[in-house]
Amino acid sequence: MTDQIIRSRRVVTPLILGPASVHISDGKIEAIREWDDIPASTPLTDAGASVVMPGNVDAHVHVNEPGRTEWEGYATATKAAAAGGVTTIVDMPLNSIPPTTTLAGFEEKLAAAEGKCSVDVAFWGGVVPENKTELAPLIERGVRGFKCFLIHSGVDEFPHLTEAGLRVAMPEIALLGSILLVHAEVPEPIDAAVASLAGLDPRHYDTFLRSRPRASENEAIELMIRLCRETGCRVHIVHHSSSDALPTLRAARAEGLPLTVETCPHYLTFAAEEIADGATHFKCCPPVRETENREKLWDAVADGTIDMVVSDHSPCTPALKLQKTGDFMDAWGGIAALQFGLPVMWTNLTKRGFGLADLTRLMSAAPAKLAGLGDRKGQLAAGYDADIVIWNPESNFKVVPQMVQHRHKLTPYSGMDLFGTVSVTYVQGRKVFDNGEFIAAPAGKMLIE
Ligand SMILES: [Zn+2]
Repeated sequence: MTDQIIRSRRVVTPLILGPASVHISDGKIEAIREWDDIPASTPLTDAGASVVMPGNVDAHVHVNEPGRTEWEGYATATKAAAAGGVTTIVDMPLNSIPPTTTLAGFEEKLAAAEGKCSVDVAFWGGVVPENKTELAPLIERGVRGFKCFLIHSGVDEFPHLTEAGLRVAMPEIALLGSILLVHAEVPEPIDAAVASLAGLDPRHYDTFLRSRPRASENEAIELMIRLCRETGCRVHIVHHSSSDALPTLRAARAEGLPLTVETCPHYLTFAAEEIADGATHFKCCPPVRETENREKLWDAVADGTIDMVVSDHSPCTPALKLQKTGDFMDAWGGIAALQFGLPVMWTNLTKRGFGLADLTRLMSAAPAKLAGLGDRKGQLAAGYDADIVIWNPESNFKVVPQMVQHRHKLTPYSGMDLFGTVSVTYVQGRKVFDNGEFIAAPAGKMLIE
């Protein structure tokens, strides 16, 4: 029994980009049929020529609840997601207190998220020194994989791993058939760079950029490739920035190693040369680099070396961004961006000759697969969850604070003109966002099975 049908002249599925009707039953896509195959009694939403495509799956979101809910929480983060056409987020294991590095910590997080989420939520666990025995129970309870750092994470309760720690964790993760997500910066080149910065103005973006040299990423990636090869553990490089490491990544991929790579809209949009003094809302780690670096990242998106684009939404309170002093060195590093990933990327993609199929591959299908959700999220196909966004690629808007649904309004996209207006968002067949309004009480599911 079909519950409802959504149709449009531009439906994006793995097989077509054109007129079709999406038949939905019990929260799932029952079938994709001809545009005019509409039984008389079934409720129909006709989206005209707006794009109907799978909701984005944002596999890199720091929600921060419990413990730092004043930075961002489940209610606000998932509303921002719904308003931005994101139908699933995968929460990172750190910046919440406790972090998701123990089963007990994960239980606290699940309890904190329950009943607050407007979209579906999955979770990454964390690997820190000495938590090897927690990894199997965390998988059993439903984390989708594990994240680690190779350098100070920014918060003391989530310590980083050294090579020795990786050698303990990676065989265990391989045994569990899981995946290790890596913040790929190692400390030595950064420590050396910081020692040479005396006398430089911490308000200049260039001072911060010098403090996080490409070598730190390049060396981390070489280490991870070596250990991936040795242990057979699947490795995913998060928020990749250094273009110098792309040839190394290409060679590893050609070798057939189980290695994937993500980058973020900010690395593909901004350029170091254009960031104003004191504009600490552009600070993240690894940093936004030069124009020349950005253009090479785009080449890697085009040739498939970079598999996906996710937000790394990592907000904090405005006070921690030190807007008054504009001190890049001391400000919290993290960019608030969850709500604007789709229009930011569409604006970039359309200018650079990419199409809607690229958008859904980079922001829906590939991140769903990374999180082990590739059989139910990330595409419009029979049997998949009816997670659908209706949006208009030709309509543009300016990012203004009033529209920001994140807990805090500070974002580097403020004031930008973007193409791609999200009209309606459905999660498992439920309409959750409709032209600026949130429709239903939060009913997003915890994806822990
Ligand atoms: Zn992150």
